[in-house]
Amino acid sequence: MITTTGLTKVYRSRGRETAALDGVDLHVREGEVYGVVGRSGAGKSTLIRCVNLLERPTSGTVQVAGEDLTSLPGSALRAARSRIGMVFQHFNLLSSRTVQDNVELPLEILGVSGKERSRKALELLDLVGLSDKGKAYPAQLSGGQKQRVGIARALAGDPKVLLSDEATSALDPETTRSILQLLRDLNEQLGLTVLLITHEMDVVKAICDSAALMKDGRIVESGKVTDLLATPGSELAHELFPVGGRPSGEDSTVVDLTFHGEAATEPVISQLSRTYNIDISVLGAALETIAGRQVGRMRIELPGRFEDNVVPIGFLREKGLQVDVAPVGKPADSNNDSLVKEAVK
Ligand code: ADP
Repeated sequence: MITTTGLTKVYRSRGRETAALDGVDLHVREGEVYGVVGRSGAGKSTLIRCVNLLERPTSGTVQVAGEDLTSLPGSALRAARSRIGMVFQHFNLLSSRTVQDNVELPLEILGVSGKERSRKALELLDLVGLSDKGKAYPAQLSGGQKQRVGIARALAGDPKVLLSDEATSALDPETTRSILQLLRDLNEQLGLTVLLITHEMDVVKAICDSAALMKDGRIVESGKVTDLLATPGSELAHELFPVGGRPSGEDSTVVDLTFHGEAATEPVISQLSRTYNIDISVLGAALETIAGRQVGRMRIELPGRFEDNVVPIGFLREKGLQVDVAPVGKPADSNNDSLVKEAVK
């Protein structure tokens, strides 16, 4: 549904150049909720603004729903852009207009008749749970309600794609949850593809099917969240789902296990202990629901160095667990030791 190829954006101001995007290839499938995360300055806003060409990329292409936006002339681009909804962190509502008039605004610009505009706006306000607020003004609404209006307005052109620029960053945790739930419901009910940018890992955990991590204008990791969680060395997995626990000694091997759904690690751990006659310590464990699916992680400590544990680690993998080995004293995701990676493949 959304593909960017070799996207770059260089800002030039006062003789200085900043490469905000440095060759971004993004692939968002139809019907998925896709989150782009990264620290401030990573290039997230620039990326999302390039997807609907609010910002023109310096080079590269952007395709949305099979159309190459970068090659469209002005009028065709405006039409294509009206089919891409966008919601903003600070809602961007017009304070002098009622809620209903705010939702009607994009339809007005498209030249839709007054009667049809009104019908559509009321339908959308109902969809976002604000059917009784049409005549209110933005100043009379809570933050969450304002964002609901922003979402209704973004849906006015019947978009296939909704872009969300930190839509929940200005909201409290409870309101954030309800707005994320609304986005997920719209994704499911309308088959809407959602591309969101956020600096909050909890947003990714709550609703994203796929995610990408941006650093210095590049995507350094991307994929389905459940696949990332099962990828040894994944930085996103570690950020999303840290399992704490420090090893008790220098001479031990720390192993992170990831399992999905109903798989239980306990029998496997006790089998491992019996088979190889080793004492295993559980350093930490967590079970969470990510994008509606259960994912568990457990950090265990095996006595002896990595070389002594190649066979037990192989046993864990044979049992179908995802295994990620950390050198002692370092988190599993900072591991670059090719020996370790090779052995756990
Ligand atoms: P993020 O959304 O991840 O915080 P941005 O896309 O806003 O990152 O910014 C990426 C980089 O581009 C930063 O170094 C930022 O200072 C720079 N940048 C963003 N917008 C502009 C602009 N209009 N002019 C110059 N530099 C910009």
